[in-house]
Amino acid sequence: MIQVKNVTKKYGNFYAVRNINFEVKDGEIVGFLGRNGAGKSTTMNMITGFIEPTEGSIIVNGYNIDSKPKKVKKEIGYMPEGTPLYSDLTVKEFVTYMAELKLIPRKERKEAVKEAIKSTGLELVQNTLTRNLSRGYKQRVSMAGAIVGNPKILILDEPTVGLDPKQVIEIRELIKSFRKDHTVLISSHILSEISQICEKVIIIDKGEILAVDTTKHLEDNTSENTVLKISVDDINNKFLSIKDEIPEIINIKLTDENDEDKTKEYLVEASSKTDIRKQIFSICAKNEITILEMKKVENSLEDAFIKLVENRPEYSKKEIKKMQYEKELEELREEEKNKKEEKELKKQAKKEEKARKRANKIEKKEKKKEEKEKGGDK
Ligand code: ADP
Repeated sequence: MIQVKNVTKKYGNFYAVRNINFEVKDGEIVGFLGRNGAGKSTTMNMITGFIEPTEGSIIVNGYNIDSKPKKVKKEIGYMPEGTPLYSDLTVKEFVTYMAELKLIPRKERKEAVKEAIKSTGLELVQNTLTRNLSRGYKQRVSMAGAIVGNPKILILDEPTVGLDPKQVIEIRELIKSFRKDHTVLISSHILSEISQICEKVIIIDKGEILAVDTTKHLEDNTSENTVLKISVDDINNKFLSIKDEIPEIINIKLTDENDEDKTKEYLVEASSKTDIRKQIFSICAKNEITILEMKKVENSLEDAFIKLVENRPEYSKKEIKKMQYEKELEELREEEKNKKEEKELKKQAKKEEKARKRANKIEKKEKKKEEKEKGGDK
């Protein structure tokens, strides 16, 4: 379980997130939804312990990240935004490196890497350099790095960004397959993404939480009104007059008209949740209007999101500029960090190679000595 309590993150005087509170319970897949710059990555980076909150506390599976950062990091698999992989490593080497960073004991490491590669469908490319993979496969490698060691909690930052539609479906299916035994927090600025994977959603805007609810509940409560989509064959043009006979109808809007067969499509909005379909049928029959199709229009998560966010002020030009600038700075810092880590990794590999050569040399020498001694004995 993840508990975020009264958390604020400030950069100078700027609130990236302000006094946010939410919980992700065991076994839930929760969507973290917000426009770009809303504070999603900042929050995720705090949950994973990469940055510290200015105020408030974060508790992961009972451990406070402040006092037990190592324990928390072990419980979490993190897939950062933008697949930062080490391009000189093969898939297997990268996942092994991630396993090392997570302090998975040497004895268990090989098996853990094998398991992560298998469950992300990377077996066939495990010896390929990550830089030679397609974007979709890179995303899988990043996912393998997150799930190695089977952490109970997965934090996935915009996991489908930049993928083509087929790859999006593949990654989505992969995430769904983790549903059984993981707690997942997945961020996105794309609504359809969240509504297809998650049962619960947290909506964040300008650093503040606007809603924590089930996707179903959010959709159902978006509008008090019922909207029906009705296609009719109405040669006498009488459909609009049904409004006079059914007081619940608030509005009728013509949405489509077929020039060839003269059929028309309307959106009928009625107050309250009373079912007016029967009344529509009988009035249309009376007026010789043939109903070709009638269906209820479900409210979408998109409606809910727009309704929640629409009354809030847009970002000013200055704010957007600042965000872009900060983002660029952050990317530069990240690049620097990656370069440094890559350098460290190469240095380490060189050292290991040297040690291996030395060990081989010693082994050879000892063998020779043994053989010599054996020869002498004879
Ligand atoms: P999201 O992930 O929702 O797109 P972020 O969490 O990345 O949003 O950013 C939230 C806000 O905090 C943005 O306005 C961003 O510019 C700002 N921000 C993020 N990181 C930093 C930083 N290191 N320094 C200053 N401002 C930052």
